[in-house]
Amino acid sequence: MPFASLGLDASILKAVADQGYTEPTPIQKASIPVIISGKDVIGVAQTGTGKTAAFTLPLLTKLVRTKSGAHQGKVRCLILAPTRELVVQIAENVAAYSRYSGATVATCYGGVSERPQIAALRRGCDFLIATPGRLLDLGGQGHGDFSAVEYLVLDEADRMLDMGFIHDVKKILALVPKDKQSLLFSATFSDEIRELANNLLKDPQSI
Ligand code: AMP
Repeated sequence: MPFASLGLDASILKAVADQGYTEPTPIQKASIPVIISGKDVIGVAQTGTGKTAAFTLPLLTKLVRTKSGAHQGKVRCLILAPTRELVVQIAENVAAYSRYSGATVATCYGGVSERPQIAALRRGCDFLIATPGRLLDLGGQGHGDFSAVEYLVLDEADRMLDMGFIHDVKKILALVPKDKQSLLFSATFSDEIRELANNLLKDPQSI
Protein backbone atom coordinates (compact mmCIF):
# COMPACT_ATOMS: atom_id res chain seq x y z
CA MET A 1 0.00 0.00 0.00
CA PRO A 2 1.61 3.30 -1.03
CA PHE A 3 1.38 6.52 0.97
CA ALA A 4 -0.63 8.06 -1.87
CA SER A 5 -3.64 5.83 -1.15
CA LEU A 6 -4.10 7.02 2.44
CA GLY A 7 -5.78 10.36 1.68
CA LEU A 8 -2.86 12.65 2.60
CA ASP A 9 -2.58 16.10 1.03
CA ALA A 10 -0.28 16.30 -2.05
CA SER A 11 2.01 18.84 -0.35
CA ILE A 12 2.54 16.41 2.51
CA LEU A 13 3.12 13.41 0.23
CA LYS A 14 5.89 15.41 -1.43
CA ALA A 15 7.56 16.05 1.93
CA VAL A 16 7.20 12.37 2.88
CA ALA A 17 8.93 11.39 -0.36
CA ASP A 18 11.77 13.79 0.52
CA GLN A 19 12.23 11.86 3.77
CA GLY A 20 12.87 8.72 1.71
CA TYR A 21 9.88 6.84 3.16
CA THR A 22 8.67 4.43 0.48
CA GLU A 23 5.88 2.64 2.31
CA PRO A 24 3.76 3.44 5.37
CA THR A 25 4.43 1.40 8.52
CA PRO A 26 1.55 -0.72 9.93
CA ILE A 27 0.46 1.92 12.45
CA GLN A 28 0.53 4.57 9.71
CA LYS A 29 -1.65 2.42 7.40
CA ALA A 30 -4.13 1.87 10.22
CA SER A 31 -4.18 5.38 11.71
CA ILE A 32 -3.91 7.83 8.83
CA PRO A 33 -7.31 7.23 7.16
CA VAL A 34 -9.10 7.02 10.53
CA ILE A 35 -7.62 10.30 11.77
CA ILE A 36 -8.41 12.03 8.46
CA SER A 37 -12.01 10.81 8.81
CA GLY A 38 -12.24 12.74 12.09
CA LYS A 39 -12.50 9.89 14.58
CA ASP A 40 -10.88 9.88 18.01
CA VAL A 41 -8.11 7.28 18.29
CA ILE A 42 -6.50 5.30 21.09
CA GLY A 43 -3.23 3.92 19.78
CA VAL A 44 -0.94 1.38 21.40
CA ALA A 45 2.46 1.98 19.91
CA GLN A 46 6.11 1.90 20.87
CA THR A 47 8.64 4.48 19.76
CA GLY A 48 10.31 3.33 16.55
CA THR A 49 7.12 2.15 14.84
CA GLY A 50 6.58 5.37 12.89
CA LYS A 51 4.02 6.56 15.45
CA THR A 52 4.91 10.25 15.16
CA ALA A 53 4.18 10.35 11.42
CA ALA A 54 1.06 8.23 12.04
CA PHE A 55 -0.58 11.19 13.80
CA THR A 56 1.29 14.24 12.45
CA LEU A 57 0.75 13.47 8.72
CA PRO A 58 -3.07 13.22 8.90
CA LEU A 59 -3.36 16.19 11.29
CA LEU A 60 -1.23 18.28 8.92
CA THR A 61 -3.49 17.21 6.05
CA LYS A 62 -6.56 18.37 7.98
CA LEU A 63 -4.95 21.66 9.04
CA VAL A 64 -3.75 22.43 5.51
CA ARG A 65 -7.16 21.70 3.99
CA THR A 66 -8.94 24.04 6.38
CA LYS A 67 -6.34 26.79 6.60
CA SER A 68 -8.38 29.90 7.26
CA GLY A 69 -5.87 32.44 8.52
CA ALA A 70 -8.44 33.25 11.19
CA HIS A 71 -6.43 31.73 13.99
CA GLN A 72 -4.11 34.60 14.80
CA GLY A 73 -2.95 34.32 18.38
CA LYS A 74 -4.58 30.92 18.80
CA VAL A 75 -3.42 27.30 18.82
CA ARG A 76 -5.11 24.89 16.41
CA CYS A 77 -3.46 21.59 17.36
CA LEU A 78 -2.00 20.87 20.80
CA ILE A 79 0.36 17.92 21.24
CA LEU A 80 1.42 17.03 24.79
CA ALA A 81 4.49 14.86 25.33
CA PRO A 82 6.36 13.87 28.51
CA THR A 83 9.88 15.17 27.81
CA ARG A 84 11.71 18.02 26.19
CA GLU A 85 13.53 15.52 23.93
CA LEU A 86 10.28 14.09 22.63
CA VAL A 87 8.78 17.57 22.12
CA VAL A 88 11.81 18.58 20.04
CA GLN A 89 11.69 15.35 18.04
CA ILE A 90 7.98 15.75 17.23
CA ALA A 91 8.56 19.40 16.26
CA GLU A 92 11.40 18.41 13.91
CA ASN A 93 9.15 15.83 12.28
CA VAL A 94 6.30 18.32 11.82
CA ALA A 95 8.69 20.92 10.40
CA ALA A 96 10.02 18.39 7.85
CA TYR A 97 6.57 17.13 6.85
CA SER A 98 5.17 20.65 6.48
CA ARG A 99 7.94 22.08 4.32
CA TYR A 100 5.59 22.44 1.31
CA SER A 101 2.46 23.32 3.26
CA GLY A 102 3.80 26.01 5.55
CA ALA A 103 2.21 24.97 8.84
CA THR A 104 3.46 26.95 11.82
CA VAL A 105 5.03 25.06 14.73
CA ALA A 106 5.89 26.22 18.25
CA THR A 107 7.26 24.37 21.27
CA CYS A 108 7.06 24.84 25.05
CA TYR A 109 9.28 22.94 27.48
CA GLY A 110 11.15 23.65 30.68
CA GLY A 111 14.83 24.31 31.30
CA VAL A 112 15.08 27.14 28.77
CA SER A 113 13.99 30.79 28.67
CA GLU A 114 10.23 31.36 28.64
CA ARG A 115 10.47 34.50 26.57
CA PRO A 116 10.58 33.03 23.02
CA GLN A 117 7.87 30.57 23.99
CA ILE A 118 5.64 33.39 25.24
CA ALA A 119 6.24 35.30 22.00
CA ALA A 120 5.30 32.22 19.95
CA LEU A 121 2.08 31.75 21.97
CA ARG A 122 1.21 35.38 21.36
CA ARG A 123 1.59 34.87 17.58
CA GLY A 124 -0.41 31.64 17.61
CA CYS A 125 0.40 28.54 15.62
CA ASP A 126 -1.01 25.53 13.82
CA PHE A 127 0.91 23.10 16.07
CA LEU A 128 1.94 23.66 19.66
CA ILE A 129 4.04 20.81 21.01
CA ALA A 130 4.55 21.02 24.76
CA THR A 131 5.42 19.34 28.03
CA PRO A 132 2.52 19.71 30.48
CA GLY A 133 4.48 21.48 33.25
CA ARG A 134 5.83 24.38 31.20
CA LEU A 135 2.58 24.78 29.31
CA LEU A 136 0.65 25.15 32.59
CA ASP A 137 3.27 27.56 33.96
CA LEU A 138 2.76 29.80 30.92
CA GLY A 139 -1.01 29.26 30.86
CA GLY A 140 -1.17 30.21 34.55
CA GLN A 141 0.52 33.51 33.68
CA GLY A 142 -2.22 34.15 31.13
CA HIS A 143 -0.22 33.20 28.03
CA GLY A 144 -1.68 31.15 25.20
CA ASP A 145 -5.18 31.05 23.76
CA PHE A 146 -6.44 27.47 23.68
CA SER A 147 -10.07 28.33 22.96
CA ALA A 148 -9.79 27.32 19.28
CA VAL A 149 -7.96 23.99 19.69
CA GLU A 150 -9.39 21.62 17.09
CA TYR A 151 -7.04 18.67 17.65
CA LEU A 152 -5.45 17.34 20.83
CA VAL A 153 -2.81 14.60 21.03
CA LEU A 154 -1.46 12.94 24.18
CA ASP A 155 1.75 11.19 23.12
CA GLU A 156 3.39 8.60 25.38
CA ALA A 157 0.51 9.04 27.79
CA ASP A 158 1.78 6.22 30.03
CA ARG A 159 5.08 8.02 30.54
CA MET A 160 3.27 11.28 31.29
CA LEU A 161 1.32 9.51 34.04
CA ASP A 162 4.45 7.70 35.35
CA MET A 163 6.19 11.07 35.58
CA GLY A 164 3.35 12.46 37.70
CA PHE A 165 1.83 14.76 35.06
CA ILE A 166 -1.75 13.55 35.44
CA HIS A 167 -2.97 16.62 37.34
CA ASP A 168 -1.25 18.96 34.89
CA VAL A 169 -2.76 17.07 31.95
CA LYS A 170 -6.24 17.26 33.48
CA LYS A 171 -5.86 21.03 34.05
CA ILE A 172 -4.80 21.49 30.43
CA LEU A 173 -7.76 19.43 29.20
CA ALA A 174 -10.00 21.91 31.03
CA LEU A 175 -8.53 24.79 28.97
CA VAL A 176 -9.36 23.34 25.53
CA PRO A 177 -12.80 23.12 23.93
CA LYS A 178 -14.87 19.99 24.52
CA ASP A 179 -15.66 19.75 20.81
CA LYS A 180 -12.39 18.61 19.22
CA GLN A 181 -10.72 15.50 17.80
CA SER A 182 -8.52 13.74 20.37
CA LEU A 183 -5.82 11.11 19.95
CA LEU A 184 -4.12 9.21 22.77
CA PHE A 185 -0.98 7.12 22.25
CA SER A 186 0.58 4.92 24.88
CA ALA A 187 3.05 2.03 24.88
CA THR A 188 1.21 0.28 27.72
CA PHE A 189 -2.28 0.20 29.20
CA SER A 190 -3.12 0.66 32.86
CA ASP A 191 -6.41 1.41 34.61
CA GLU A 192 -5.27 5.04 34.87
CA ILE A 193 -4.74 5.28 31.09
CA ARG A 194 -8.12 3.67 30.49
CA GLU A 195 -9.75 6.23 32.79
CA LEU A 196 -8.00 9.10 31.02
CA ALA A 197 -9.07 7.69 27.64
CA ASN A 198 -12.67 7.29 28.82
CA ASN A 199 -12.77 10.90 29.99
CA LEU A 200 -11.10 12.35 26.91
CA LEU A 201 -12.10 10.27 23.88
CA LYS A 202 -15.49 10.04 22.19
CA ASP A 203 -16.28 6.64 20.65
CA PRO A 204 -12.58 6.05 19.89
CA GLN A 205 -11.17 3.62 17.38
CA SER A 206 -8.49 1.37 18.92
CA ILE A 207 -5.36 0.87 16.85
P1 AMP B 1 8.85 7.09 15.60
O1 AMP B 1 8.24 5.75 15.90
O2 AMP B 1 7.80 8.10 15.29
O3 AMP B 1 9.79 7.53 16.67
O4 AMP B 1 9.69 6.94 14.24
C1 AMP B 1 10.86 6.15 14.15
C2 AMP B 1 11.69 6.49 12.93
O5 AMP B 1 11.10 5.95 11.75
C3 AMP B 1 11.88 7.96 12.67
O6 AMP B 1 13.25 8.17 12.42
C4 AMP B 1 11.09 8.25 11.42
O7 AMP B 1 11.69 9.25 10.64
C5 AMP B 1 11.10 6.93 10.70
N1 AMP B 1 9.91 6.65 9.87
C6 AMP B 1 8.63 7.00 10.13
N2 AMP B 1 7.81 6.54 9.17
C7 AMP B 1 8.56 5.87 8.26
C8 AMP B 1 8.28 5.17 7.06
N3 AMP B 1 7.04 5.04 6.58
N4 AMP B 1 9.33 4.60 6.39
C9 AMP B 1 10.58 4.71 6.87
N5 AMP B 1 10.92 5.36 8.01
C10 AMP B 1 9.92 5.94 8.71
